[in-house]
Amino acid sequence: ISATELTKSTFENIKSTDDKIEAFLTLNEETALKQAAEADEKGISADQLVAGIPLGVKDNIVTKGLRTTAASKILDNFNPIYDATVIEKLKAQGLITAGKLNLDEFAMGGSTENSAYQTTHNAWDLTRVPGGSSGGSAASVAAGQVLAALGTDTGGSIRLPASYNGVVGMKPTYGRVSRWGIIAFGSSLDQVGWLTQSVKDNALLTSIISGHDDHDLTSSTEAVPNFASQLNDDTSVKGLRIAVPKEYLGEGVDEGVKDAIQKALNHYESLGAIVDEVSLPNTQYGVAAYYIISSSEASSNLQRFDGIRYGVRAQDVENLEDVYVKSRSEGFGDEVKRRIMLGTFSLSAGFYDAYFKKASQIRTLIRQDFEKVFEDHDLVMGPAGPTVAYKIGSNITDPKAMYMNDVLTVPVNMAGLPGMSIPAGFSDNMPVGLQIIGKPFDEQTMYNAAYAFE
Ligand code: GLN
Repeated sequence: ISATELTKSTFENIKSTDDKIEAFLTLNEETALKQAAEADEKGISADQLVAGIPLGVKDNIVTKGLRTTAASKILDNFNPIYDATVIEKLKAQGLITAGKLNLDEFAMGGSTENSAYQTTHNAWDLTRVPGGSSGGSAASVAAGQVLAALGTDTGGSIRLPASYNGVVGMKPTYGRVSRWGIIAFGSSLDQVGWLTQSVKDNALLTSIISGHDDHDLTSSTEAVPNFASQLNDDTSVKGLRIAVPKEYLGEGVDEGVKDAIQKALNHYESLGAIVDEVSLPNTQYGVAAYYIISSSEASSNLQRFDGIRYGVRAQDVENLEDVYVKSRSEGFGDEVKRRIMLGTFSLSAGFYDAYFKKASQIRTLIRQDFEKVFEDHDLVMGPAGPTVAYKIGSNITDPKAMYMNDVLTVPVNMAGLPGMSIPAGFSDNMPVGLQIIGKPFDEQTMYNAAYAFE
């Protein structure tokens, strides 16, 4: 099959399914077909084995000349003049951007219901949420629209939707992938990663986007392995020491989810792994600390959206102050405003010690919890989320209930560790994701374990 044929059929498929899934915000059809024609003309070379394949991109990743909204009204007309580093790297491999995928506004949420444009539907049950914030990416891959889609994960936004849609989602180690050109949410937590149909695709694509970038000084100089070529069979699990935190299978986690995870752990044991119960005692403080830290960083990162530099400017204004106030009041949705308020409050002089500083201390404790467990274990495993995908509309009026869905994913971002979710079974006829957490920069061991399970 030629790149042009593949690209044409990709768009036909997207158009015939997306009125139900509503994953895409913008399609890149014309440019994609041009790129495909170029790829066909050049032929596929040995160092560009994945050239000519159309992929999806979460809409908080900037793409040159292709509308990038972060699912916010304030960026409704934003047409970036440059590509994010991850997009540059994909283009260098001849990969094609099919279009931009829906998310919670500025990646703030866990259900994609906070998008200013549309609510994406779960690919397994259209009445349920796809998870978030990379809900468009997960549903698109699960529905077979694209083989892979880029997502971002600040507190679970790759892993939770991967879990809800039964696809493979990897959030690499903080620093593994450049954040240049990612619309920043919580800069000390954000990472880019892939949602894919298979472990092997995920491994292959993660190698492509990883590596140091002079534009992002938090990006690591650590060598990037060719993850896919090192995947081996079941033998890699023999003797693997797996830690299962009791907090991850405790109160608040649905019985059906626990059962599916327990079966997955039994399978690892049958392959020769050693499964131990451990404790991560500060897990219970993770959500509170995460929402203080991420909102504080967001309140600072979102200052740039002032109606002057980017996006939509309010009309009928009297003076400069009015431009700021009206553009932001009209441009941001409720959840984004809630986070800006929370973050500004937590950082304010009178409350800094009580909130931001305390949250940072908890962050240290959470990191130390993991360090201790990793002294004598290779991987940590548990569910990615406490439930399967829930009905659209059922949680949206209760932000605290929504935040609690992040209890098993946010500690990983706070500690800067790599985390992934792989399909592990079903509960209530909906997919359950097994979360695999690794040591810093040890994505290979995670991929090996995931590959052996698949
Ligand atoms: N659900 C979490 C939040 O709303 C995580 C979001 C994310 O990882 N981008 O902040």
